[in-house]
Amino acid sequence: MISRRLFSTAVAAGSRTVTLFPGDGIGREISSALQKVFTAASVPVVWDTYDVGAEAAERTGSLITKEALDSVLRTGVCLKGPTATPIGKGHKSLNVTLRQTLDIYANVRPAKTIAAVPTRYEKVDIVIVRENTEDLYAGQEAVITDGVNISLKIITEKASTRIAKYAFEYAVANGRKKVSAIHKANIMKLTDGLFLECCRKVAKEYPQITYDERIIDATCMMLVQDPTKFDVMVLPNLYGDIVSDLAAGLIGGLGLTASSNYGQKAVLFEAVHGTAPDIAGKDLANPSALLFSGAMMLRHLGLKTHADQIENAVLKTLKGSVKTKDLGGNSTCSEFTNHVIKNL
Ligand code: NAD
Repeated sequence: MISRRLFSTAVAAGSRTVTLFPGDGIGREISSALQKVFTAASVPVVWDTYDVGAEAAERTGSLITKEALDSVLRTGVCLKGPTATPIGKGHKSLNVTLRQTLDIYANVRPAKTIAAVPTRYEKVDIVIVRENTEDLYAGQEAVITDGVNISLKIITEKASTRIAKYAFEYAVANGRKKVSAIHKANIMKLTDGLFLECCRKVAKEYPQITYDERIIDATCMMLVQDPTKFDVMVLPNLYGDIVSDLAAGLIGGLGLTASSNYGQKAVLFEAVHGTAPDIAGKDLANPSALLFSGAMMLRHLGLKTHADQIENAVLKTLKGSVKTKDLGGNSTCSEFTNHVIKNL
């Protein structure tokens, strides 16, 4: 595995170094937008930038280098653009590799109504806490015989307890009232059953937080009918991935939703969305999701004032007439970014 270090800026006194993976597709456009906004806001962060992902692999023959991984371990903080994974063939997802290699086990994906972006729903305020390291994402697949393929769903007590604890700790730290465990333990009695058992045990340690359980299919219906029924949700990997795109749809789409991935060794911040191949290279992407992810990162770094400044500038811009296509406008990513800078 070899990938290329693009550049590293000199570390100014008092600055924090952050590993940056611009990624594939719209990744470069939105990463460049974020860097411009950070520079304009004089954020004391310097970038250690690496070319990783499917496009890097085409140029260099590899998805990621040891040097790039070492950078994340050294800085402990990574901002990542989306990376492409071929469908039904080809290389394993770089995201899954990063999550498993760095043991970044808790994927936190908030979906909150943005007043400036009206949708069919009001007062959505959900935080999805997704287990990031196992389940059907373990990539344990095999051909049994002609026309019969299998994929192993791996659920462990250790990972389920760890993610349940994370969800409850998150709820306590952020003044949340309820944690819902989402499962299909009526059918997958051993795997989802174990996940649920771990959530129940952990819930007993947090009597101040309401705990409930919901089956995944009914959850989807309830989310569409009345998303205000949910607060913090804790889910195994695959359900967490699917439900977070659904939640993004409730508040205006993938152009708006941010995420963080926590582990003991490193924390990685990225937008929920992918490489958007349909609009890549056309300067049409909405950079808001990555900018919100950047604000989450700044809070993690203790740079709250800068985080608030950038988040407020994005919200002010979303309120105005400069809108990207995904939100019904005609503005480019560059125009939107310039307005965010004006609104800082
Ligand atoms: P996608 O999220 O890339 O795109 C889905 C739809 O949302 C597209 O119509 C796209 O144009 C739109 N969209 C997404 N982000 C947008 C933005 N910032 N601004 C405006 N519109 C936006 O999902 P997909 O098409 O299913 O996946 C494409 C590729 O991305 C695949 O290779 C997939 O593996 C990868 N992917 C990567 C990540 C990641 O790196 N974290 C996450 C999801 C998907």
